[in-house]
Parts: sequence; C-alpha cells; structure tokens
Amino acid sequence: MSQKLTSQQLSALAQEYGTPLYVYHAEKITEQFGKLKQAFRNTDTVFFYACKALTNINILRHMKALGANVDCSSINEVKLALHAGFPSNRILYTSNGISFSEIREAKELGVIINIDSLSNLEKFGQAFGHSYPVGIRLRPNIMAGGNIKISTGHERSKFGIPIEHVPQVKDLMERYKICIHNLHIHTGSDIKDVSVFIKGIEVLFDIIPHFHELKFIDLGGGFKVPYQEGDSETDMNALATKVAELFSAHPAASKLQVWFEPGKFLVSECGYFITTVNVIKETPAARFVAVDSGFNHLIRPMFYDAYHRIENISNPGPEEQVCSVVGNICETDTFAWDRRLSPVKEGDLLVFYNAGAYGFEMSSNFNARFKPAEVLVLDGKAHLVRKRDEFSDLLRNQLEVLPA
Ligand code: PLP
Repeated sequence: MSQKLTSQQLSALAQEYGTPLYVYHAEKITEQFGKLKQAFRNTDTVFFYACKALTNINILRHMKALGANVDCSSINEVKLALHAGFPSNRILYTSNGISFSEIREAKELGVIINIDSLSNLEKFGQAFGHSYPVGIRLRPNIMAGGNIKISTGHERSKFGIPIEHVPQVKDLMERYKICIHNLHIHTGSDIKDVSVFIKGIEVLFDIIPHFHELKFIDLGGGFKVPYQEGDSETDMNALATKVAELFSAHPAASKLQVWFEPGKFLVSECGYFITTVNVIKETPAARFVAVDSGFNHLIRPMFYDAYHRIENISNPGPEEQVCSVVGNICETDTFAWDRRLSPVKEGDLLVFYNAGAYGFEMSSNFNARFKPAEVLVLDGKAHLVRKRDEFSDLLRNQLEVLPA
C-alpha cells in the first residue's frame, strides 16, 4: 500500500505548526527509492537524487541513509550535500552556464563533475589535463517532458554540448588529454514515455566509440509521477527491462554503470502544502477562494501551468463546488481555475498534493511575505525542520544606510 498521510494527521500538523506549512513524509521517499532499486536490481545502476527539487538538510540525510547519491546544480548544493554528510565521491555536480572558478572549487572539494560547455571543457583540460576524470553533459536534440519550460534536450535548449559538437569535444580531449569518464543527458521533466529514455541511450551509444575511458552513462532524471487521480508514473519496470536489454547487448556499454538523477520521482508525492482559506469572494465570473499563500510559496501552477490536486480537508465529502483557488499576493497567482472542491468556508484547510518537489525550494519572500515552515514526518513522529520566517529575516543582509 502506498504511503500517505491522512487528512487527520495533516489537520493536526496545521493546528500545531500553523499555515502555510510544507509537510514531508519520509516513508513515501523510502517507498519511491525502493521502487527504483527493485526495478533496476539486475543492472549496475546508481541513483543520484537531484536535490534541486528539495534541499532541506534532513531530506538530504534521509536520502543518504537510504543509499542514494546526490546530484547538485550549484556549488552551494554541493556544500549542502557535504554538510549533510555525503562523501565527495557520492556527490555529482552537473553544472550549467557556470564560471570556471566554480568548477575549480568543485574539483578541489573532490566531487564528480559534469561539464556542459566546450568553453569550460577547454579550461578544465588546460588546468587539469588527464589528472581528474570528468563527465560531459550532451544535448541529444530530443524533445521531451511535460511542457517546453521543462524540456531541456531539444535543439534550441541552452543545456549541454550539442551532440553535433562531439568532434570538437574529441579535439579538446586529445589536445589536453582529458579523461572523459561519463556521458550525461537530461532531456526534461515529467517524462512518462519510456521510449524517450531509449532514444537518449541510442544517441549516446552512437558516440561511445569516441570515448575510450568511459565508465558511466548518466541518463539524468525526469521520471513522471501522478499528479491527478488516474494519472500514472513512468513505468520503472519497463524502463529497467529495456535498459538492461540494450546495455547487455552492446559490447562496450555492457561494461558501463548506468546513472539516473531523479528529483520529482523521489520527493514530489512525499510533500503536502497546507494552507488556510482567508477569504471567499463570489463574483459573476468565479467563486474565488483565497488562501494564505501565493506563487511566492508554490510557483509551479503559475510558472509551468502545473496541476496540483487540492483538497478541502476541513470538510471531507463530495467535491461539488466549483471554485477558483487563488493566493493573497498582489499579482495574479491562480493555483487552480474552476476546480471542484467540497464546499469551502473561510478558515478551512486546503491541502495541495505533490508539493515536495520544486515547492518550498522555489519559494521566495515576494510581497515581503514569510517563507513557510517545513515539517518532516518520520516513523510517525513530526519534526519541525525549518522555522517559519520572521520579520527579522526580511531585513537580514540589508544594510540600513539611510536614516529612518
Ligand atoms: N538532472 C538534471 C541535470 C536536471 O536539470 C534535473 C531537473 O531539472 C533533474 C536531474 C531532475 O529532474 P526531475 O525532478 O524531473 O527528476
């Protein structure tokens, strides 16, 4: 049975810690990680948690305890992972558009690095030659993912070294004796269709003969999770079977370890975002239900048109009232248009599901609102893992040079 927190548990947490509140359920993360391990049990596969989805230090430590490695997208994520206790050889830094000084720092910290431009690859070769194995992020020219904003492998994407530049990669590799040990792609997020990963593998298989020191093929993240009732996730067993089949049949690839970098798959469903209804406004166009939050706390609906299931946990019952759920910030911040909810009144608790990935992590203090608190539920016990902001946080780092 899938791990879930009940409405009663969520209401009790809202009571204790107030709203808006992010709640994470550790056992759901464990369940998701278990699915990956089980599906890929017959393949030499390593999973790097893409921590950009949620970097709370306790989430990182839970991942470490499960046996996941970690994938970072900034030097500060690398430092958070080290702080969480990951050894450097379990930390992967997949850089993009960064200065070479950050790559140098990552090298000094001893972590695994993927480089995503010819320019940084050349600097890397000049600085380190053959002494430090490195991976390259390639852009395979594959259109994939839930929508264009989260599609990262297509021909107009900024990410990775275009696959047609492999000859230039080879030149640099030969000129500076660079040891390229990993070929990486990440084509997007919300990818349900297993064939997208297969296409990526085929693109990489074509170029394997150019790289004589390869040890790893890194297929990135992007697995889909269900957001709506009746939705399904990427079929991990089908993917694992196909990966095993393709790699074992390929003479060079059969010796390589396969890496994945799941973010959403591990933490999306573990997260619940609890809000309170501030105001109900009946208008000819809509019945607006305004909660004590906005896109400053959960930006995915406005930014990606993402769907988050919303439930009125204060009034369990048939979802027969059509509402538009909006926020309280001074900007259009619609969470959901014309959504069916059980009858709502001011003071009710609305829960947003799938709030673990890219929820708190993309939050801000826009409108000088506080960032929410975060709670981790582990073994049935709730732990406050981040305090709600307070007024002093809004002034932290500001220098008051003018008199009041
Ligand atoms: N790996 C890389 C390089 C990414 O850029 C991302 C997401 O942006 C991920 C992994 C994780 O993607 P997801 O959360 O969809 O699994």
